[in-house]
Amino acid sequence: MIKLPILVAKNATKGGTSVPLESEPMSLRFEISATNDRSRRGRLLTPHGPVQTPVFMPVGTQATVKAVSQDMLEELGVELLLGNTYHLYLRPGVGQIRKLGGVHRFMGWPHAILTDSGGFQVFSLSDLRKVTEDGVSFRSHLDGTTHFLSPEGTTEAQIGLGADVIMAFDECTEYPADEQRARASMELTLRWAERCKKYFEEHKEERPWISCQPSALSHQSDCRSLDFPDESANRFFSSARDDRASTATLTGKAQALFGIVQGGMDHALRKESAERTIEIGFDGYAIGGLSVGEPRAVTREIVESTLEHLPKDKPCYLMGVGTPEEIVEYAKLGVDMMDCVLPTRAARHGLLFTSEGKISIKQARYAGDEAPLDLNCSCRTCRRYSRAYLRHLYASKEVLAQVLNTVHNLSFYLDTMRRVRHSI
Ligand SMILES: [Zn+2]
Repeated sequence: MIKLPILVAKNATKGGTSVPLESEPMSLRFEISATNDRSRRGRLLTPHGPVQTPVFMPVGTQATVKAVSQDMLEELGVELLLGNTYHLYLRPGVGQIRKLGGVHRFMGWPHAILTDSGGFQVFSLSDLRKVTEDGVSFRSHLDGTTHFLSPEGTTEAQIGLGADVIMAFDECTEYPADEQRARASMELTLRWAERCKKYFEEHKEERPWISCQPSALSHQSDCRSLDFPDESANRFFSSARDDRASTATLTGKAQALFGIVQGGMDHALRKESAERTIEIGFDGYAIGGLSVGEPRAVTREIVESTLEHLPKDKPCYLMGVGTPEEIVEYAKLGVDMMDCVLPTRAARHGLLFTSEGKISIKQARYAGDEAPLDLNCSCRTCRRYSRAYLRHLYASKEVLAQVLNTVHNLSFYLDTMRRVRHSI
């Protein structure tokens, strides 16, 4: 284990809180405090509070993590949530959320949020999609209406939603894809990345949570935060106005834009994609286009080889993985951020992750089992309820089954990541 002094460019530390020394709005800061072989422990300082890394992000598709409330997420120690631009764009609409102050205020979550670009959902959920140089036209999976998303359009949508970290629009290359197809897709993603970066640079001051005129940008004290404008607005966050939220006033007010590395399952293309994405220049880098049906061993190989080409001083986000064992493995390879629907989706289907392996709570063998779900878990589900009761709730299709199962699975994932951080 190597402990590193915490270095924060342009920042001083005072009483455990980072204080900006410069007056221009800042985006993400990434501090690495320790490394162990290839893994690293650190903190992302976002406008809505610090996030300890490596981090697992619960997925909040419709501005909600299905079945659990925001105060439960806080109790679980969640510091960063993922939101899906595609879903929020279709319903209730970016304009509506923007008018309501951005996605943080809309959903009553004063901590950090990352939004994806919507690209993956367009490719996986919508009908009649047509990809051109300009962008993607597609039909809504909700009502069949036709829409068009471009690199500029999705960046505008993500600025409107106002997440702390937003993602470039990419084409998720299907699997399998031959070398020619993977290259063409990678080249398109690179051209789109440049357009996202250009649009972001020209419009990033339009985020909903700070009313700052461009001329006032060099005087941060002139900027009025719309996050918590007065005490009446704080009624939404009365229990959440902790030090993480108040750090928001100190660590800067700019969104960060991440680029995405593609290149299919081809190591040379992944290297080229990484190098050319870095040339465009982003606040962090994601590895996309994995978990699309390839064997797990291939996923691991591509993650490992792509990481070699990413900058060590920027956060690395591996999109859409994985099982509890996999998130440990990827964190050990040096990944800083991960997200996956698995813990929440599996919970709703009665599949629970425990320290002794997976449990399918629907099985009759649990009908008389008085033990807690996981003796090594201290979540509110395991503290209070028996397997027999959880099995009964599930069999009776009670809403509470989804709540309690999701709380436990998220707790298991977050505990797993906490243990990884402590081991670094
Ligand atoms: Zn539990």
